Amino acid sequence: MVKSSVLGFPRMGVLRDLKKANEAYWGGKLSQTDLLAEGKRLRLAHWKIQKDAGVDIIPSNDFAYYDHILDHIQLFNAVPERYTSQKLDTLDEYFAMGRGHQKGGVDVPSLEMVKWFDSNYHYVKPTLQDNQTFSLAKDPKPVREFLEAKEAGYITRPVLVGPVSFLALGKADRGSTVNPISLLDKLVPVYVELLKALKAAGAEAVQIDEPVLVYDLSPEVKAAFKPAYEAIAAAGDVPAITIATYFGDIVHNFDVIPAFSKVQALHVDLVRNPEQLEPVLKQLGPNQILSAGVVDGRNIWKNNFAKSLELLNTAIKALGQDRVIVATSSSLLHTPHTLASEKKLPEEVYNWFSFATEKTKEVAILAKAVVDAESVRAELDANAAAIKSRAESARTNDPKVKERQAAVTPEMHNRKSPFDVRYQKQVQHLKLPLFPTTTIGSFPQTSEIRIQRNKFTKGEISEEEYDNFIKKEIDLAIKIQDELDLDVYVHGEPERNDMVQYFGERLQGYVFTTHAWVQSYGSRCVRPPIIVGDISRPAPMTVKESKYAASVSKKPMKGMLTGPVTCLRWSFPRVDVHQSVQCQQLALALRDEVQDLEKNGIYVIQVDEPALREGLPLRKGSERDAYLEWAVNSFKLATVGVDDSTQIHSHFCYSEFQDFFHAIAALDADVLSIENSKSDAKLLKVFIDEAYPRHIGPGVYDIHSPRVPNLEEFKQRIQEMLAYLRPDQLWINPDCGLKTRKWDEVKGALSNMVTAAKYFREQY
Ligand code: GLN
Ligand code: ZN
Repeated sequence: MVKSSVLGFPRMGVLRDLKKANEAYWGGKLSQTDLLAEGKRLRLAHWKIQKDAGVDIIPSNDFAYYDHILDHIQLFNAVPERYTSQKLDTLDEYFAMGRGHQKGGVDVPSLEMVKWFDSNYHYVKPTLQDNQTFSLAKDPKPVREFLEAKEAGYITRPVLVGPVSFLALGKADRGSTVNPISLLDKLVPVYVELLKALKAAGAEAVQIDEPVLVYDLSPEVKAAFKPAYEAIAAAGDVPAITIATYFGDIVHNFDVIPAFSKVQALHVDLVRNPEQLEPVLKQLGPNQILSAGVVDGRNIWKNNFAKSLELLNTAIKALGQDRVIVATSSSLLHTPHTLASEKKLPEEVYNWFSFATEKTKEVAILAKAVVDAESVRAELDANAAAIKSRAESARTNDPKVKERQAAVTPEMHNRKSPFDVRYQKQVQHLKLPLFPTTTIGSFPQTSEIRIQRNKFTKGEISEEEYDNFIKKEIDLAIKIQDELDLDVYVHGEPERNDMVQYFGERLQGYVFTTHAWVQSYGSRCVRPPIIVGDISRPAPMTVKESKYAASVSKKPMKGMLTGPVTCLRWSFPRVDVHQSVQCQQLALALRDEVQDLEKNGIYVIQVDEPALREGLPLRKGSERDAYLEWAVNSFKLATVGVDDSTQIHSHFCYSEFQDFFHAIAALDADVLSIENSKSDAKLLKVFIDEAYPRHIGPGVYDIHSPRVPNLEEFKQRIQEMLAYLRPDQLWINPDCGLKTRKWDEVKGALSNMVTAAKYFREQY
């Protein structure tokens, strides 16, 4: 028999139930008892889904109210003193670390949250002290949830974050200099205690996630595996261990595999890196089991059974049936709950997808299929038919798009003239002062805007009524910019629901879901659009609003687009063609839009690429170089088809470019606006060091906070920037768009920002 396994299930529930419960609890509208009951209800429901699907190895402790790494911070009593000293109860202390706590005289900010590998999920960073100690929490969550499942009739495999990954993904707290991995000796005994407690509770097996194995590891972290896992193995009464890795291959870290000689099984991601199968098979010890991750935990496509069976059969041939487990590639956390909630997808397309619930069935079917294909003949045939329907669908393949891609030439990636020539023409054309002021695009998305958009979506107001409403919003934005005396205006983006969805809805090749939410962090969920086919632009997407805005404004109006890489990264991409191909299709669609904007009198065009950095492959080397090349080429393809006198801007919500500065420079954008108000101005040094010639607007205003900075703060910030940038090179703008702010805050802050810019204008 071949077993099936799921590495983790999404936590939110069918209708984002956990989000709603958490937010109600935070808002004082739900009691803690009721929140805990809701958590239990969700866990039981999720176990049932997996059991009903026929999954053999069902996870527990994959559930978290906020984040599973944060769970482990409490589990190991690694909570910084600033939280423990507040004497909050366990759950409130937990949320305080996740989202800060400002209530009843307590005021603590949250711990740092960062992206989980290359996904859109964010985890809370373990934040460690020089004198850090660890101990096992009372009533440890993994034991509690194992017993909860057991009582309900489910024998689960608890999921734990491995000791090495827990530390390697952490950092020293401010004021401390400890290298987290040096704390391993202290953590391992606590880990052993936990494993023993699980065993005593009846857990025969555990899944220990060590995803850092897909990274390029420092020698210290590599060396940490052996002592940790030897100590665990030597401890005796612990459950059988499966080490799980995902989001990359581990071949480059094979030298740490001996550390796992006592573990029962190794899980690898064969969706992302199927080619690691052969070398992994050779590396396994004589009795070790392979957990073969063949069902994608990161995307929403129906599994291609024929392909998965090929991999599984190769593994079985080498190891025998008893030593192969069919698994999801990673936790299903990154996929929406169930396809069954989608009532509006085109029928043809519906059949191409598989969300978390459907994926649990896929692992179970595959596990049966490798033993006896006839027992699941109907399922295999239906799968083959769905895969074929997608491959052959007119929706997937658009010959016109392919033709256009084939005709792309290298010259289509370059502006007509170099920057200094363009700049002279732009100065004459746009008549901008020194230290030009601008904003990043969006203005407050007021509740009125949301109400009108909802009415329009529901058909309660006509298109004309909605258009008139949007025009009024644009008029308001322009009036305010007149009063503020900004130099380059924006229309304010009142018509946009989301910076990717808005474009997706106007492009051929995308579909949209109604309930396919995926957790991004805490209670925040996103609903990425899905790229199903070749992408093209049937009609202009933003020209109407930008043109109107330009017609009523006396200063240059900046057009506003989401770049090709960001459109790709914040969607579920196709898996049947390379991402570079999809990105180029998006670029060609945007190229037309850029040219249409120019034709309609928009001579400053900003193409936002906030997601460029997160697409960086996890490891240095050829894959990263290749990514940067196609990402940069797509941006250029989208933006360079304009006259020299048209100014191209781009925007990024971060300021750490050190790792890939050459790529940012290669974009050849005339003006780059970046986040900087809360970062160290020293980060700008790279621009001088690399003799960056073009213009830069490092953010001078933190748009995440309602706080209005005073004039002196703006002046000081600009002064700091002038230590690194030439005066003629510096633009003055906020960190990012202002959609989450209130108008009062925006007016106050921008007014001080403009005054500060004028002050410096007089100095030079
Ligand atoms: N133009 C967008 C805005 O202003 C940019 C958003 C972003 O960078 N995330 O909202
Ligand atoms: Zn931004």
